[in-house]
Amino acid sequence: MNSPPDPPELPAVLRAQLPELAPGHVWLTGAGPGDPALLTLAALAGLSQADVIVHDALVDQRVLALAGTQARLEFAGKRGGRPSATQSDISERLIALARAGQRVLRLKGGDPFVFGRGGEEALALAAACVPFRVVPGVTAGLAALAAASIPATLRNVNRALILAAGHGADETFDWAPLARAGQPIVLYMVMRNLDRVADALMQGGLDPHTPAAVISDATGPTEQVLVSTLARIAQDARERDLAPPAIVVIGHIVTAREQLRGAPPPEKPT
Ligand code: SAH
Repeated sequence: MNSPPDPPELPAVLRAQLPELAPGHVWLTGAGPGDPALLTLAALAGLSQADVIVHDALVDQRVLALAGTQARLEFAGKRGGRPSATQSDISERLIALARAGQRVLRLKGGDPFVFGRGGEEALALAAACVPFRVVPGVTAGLAALAAASIPATLRNVNRALILAAGHGADETFDWAPLARAGQPIVLYMVMRNLDRVADALMQGGLDPHTPAAVISDATGPTEQVLVSTLARIAQDARERDLAPPAIVVIGHIVTAREQLRGAPPPEKPT
């Protein structure tokens, strides 16, 4: 079998635009949802220049494969069965690496400032007077909708989009105001609590027939899309064995998927 050709060098005109990751600096960088084609050019520049890349479990291996040969990879984050570094350990590590004069790329899945605790790292770096920049990434919620042919906004359907985190749903968070907003809700980190969150949204007034979808491993090799209704989504996801990472979207924007894919619209549930 022929091996694939080497990727083309970036054109000089583009290279000239790329920022420089200086020694002693940290870039808090979004790695996007998985597919390396969704990296920003700044993220790519960081990958090629970094001395050390401190990455989360969510960062796709295909993205890490783009690191420069000089880069050392350090895992920091939560992963089943392995002890996880605390947030303050990670922030301290970033500060120590920068103070040692390293070019530090802190690589996080999706966007670093969306449910990624990048905000806390930025605050810690600022407090320690370590120079840093934030490189946004394509957040999983939007990437998953695009992958599933579900427009995030549709004229005459919605004028807002709610991004919410579903972890710790047994806490005192009140879902009713979100249900009452009548706008689509995109849920991150919700798979373990999907029954409870769906119930809370229905109790808050959302119609059980509201279309809903789960997109797991968006842009990854095992991507799956499940379309259902709010009342059935948790059970259907269980039956299909859909595993994290996954995004759940609830709202009438989901219906557009069938039209975009050229299939007849699904029958209205009774
Ligand atoms: N900062 C990240 C979110 C981190 S929270 C971002 O902006 O995307 C982790 C959650 O992100 C997961 O529980 C899941 O809900 C979602 N997620 C991350 N990558 C995903 C992917 N490839 N497909 C579906 N959901 C994903």
